[in-house]
Amino acid sequence: MSNHHKIVIVGGGTGGITVASRLARALAQPDIAIVEPSDRHYYQPLWTLVGGGAATKESTVRPESGLIPRGATWIRDAVVEFQPEQRRLVTRDGRRLGYDWLVVAPGIQLDWHKIDGLSAALGRDGVCSNYSFDFVDRTWEFIRGLRQGRAIFTMPNTPVKCGGAPQKIMWLAEHHFRRAGVRDAIEVVFASAGAKIFAVKKYADTLERLVRERDVVTRFHHNLIAVRPASREAVFTRAAPGQAAEEVVLKYDLLHVTPPMGPPDFVRTSPLADANGWIDVDKHSLQHRRFSDVFALGDASNLPTSKTGAAIRKQAPVLVANLLAAMAGRPGEAVYHGYTSCPLVTGYGRLVLAEFDYDGNPAETFPFDQAKERRSMYLLKKYALPQMYWHGMLRGRA
Ligand code: FAD
Repeated sequence: MSNHHKIVIVGGGTGGITVASRLARALAQPDIAIVEPSDRHYYQPLWTLVGGGAATKESTVRPESGLIPRGATWIRDAVVEFQPEQRRLVTRDGRRLGYDWLVVAPGIQLDWHKIDGLSAALGRDGVCSNYSFDFVDRTWEFIRGLRQGRAIFTMPNTPVKCGGAPQKIMWLAEHHFRRAGVRDAIEVVFASAGAKIFAVKKYADTLERLVRERDVVTRFHHNLIAVRPASREAVFTRAAPGQAAEEVVLKYDLLHVTPPMGPPDFVRTSPLADANGWIDVDKHSLQHRRFSDVFALGDASNLPTSKTGAAIRKQAPVLVANLLAAMAGRPGEAVYHGYTSCPLVTGYGRLVLAEFDYDGNPAETFPFDQAKERRSMYLLKKYALPQMYWHGMLRGRA
């Protein structure tokens, strides 16, 4: 196997495969290597519906081998070090891989260990998370089994992938409790380290109304720091602006945790990182700010937008156009304006399709008010978007 490729892509997830497919289509003689340790590729957006019992977890996974485009080589290994001065990276198996052009897309790291007691508690006695493929079906098991008590849904104080996912599962659970006739016996709590329900006002207005109408208890400025499964207690730091931080302990019967997240360690400690540890790219061109032969997209980048697959769908064509221009010695002219989307599931058959740009301005696709809950948008998420993902986006077509 060659130890030098014209283009090396780090990560064969949403961003890596989408870019690889677009490049493979555009180049007459592609010489692309994708470094990806996992033999499975996940469509993570559907995990929300798996946790809500409306999709199977098997339907969200496909073999990685079937997604590698013709003209690309899959190197089943993990990158451990970037050496951009030498145009080289080092892998876990000790391989030194040279490149002319590098695309970085290794995703975000889930820091389960940063919450005391969580790793041991996950998947047992009411503690669950849609953010883990291994445990996502437990979420539904625990929601379905709950007849009374308190169900808490948390959101951490770090960036997360899909900022809406921590509350989507809460809305599904709330709807299920009503349908099962147990809603009056269950307190539904959204405990978030943030200050409000959603960042963009247009959609936040709808969600705030739903909070009132559906009797959801919101506890903002609450950051989960520990889980005590023996006593079924969740421990939070409450740190409201202008007030001294205090510890708050809440009993739970169901605890859905969104773990803290951050840049992968090997990215954070690399010369490619910004001060916060994310890959440091220009927010319009997606080219690295210091190493012009490096590009990045997706969750590991420091693009100041919400980290979603939908954002990557708009980032990938821009990155590819600017990379091809750079390879031809021309300045890149494609511009990314920060588009991202959050299909906010607000119940079974209900969805608010939030779409917005860097400035938080709505950037909607459909000619109707997307801040309204709609069944059509739920069907879009459940049926159309997965098909578009597997057959369009990952094939470099949509
Ligand atoms: P990923 O797709 O996570 O891929 C990263 C890849 O890099 C992985 O395959 C990994 O194995 C690989 N990798 C890791 N370390 C290394 C290494 N050292 N070397 C080489 N490769 C490595 N998005 C939406 O658009 N809409 C939604 O409704 C939505 N809902 C979501 C709900 C949940 C519960 C979750 C978890 C996510 C959701 N997302 C949603 C977010 C979306 O899935 C991610 O934003 C997207 O997959 C990020 O793509 P990525 O390529 O940056 O990272």
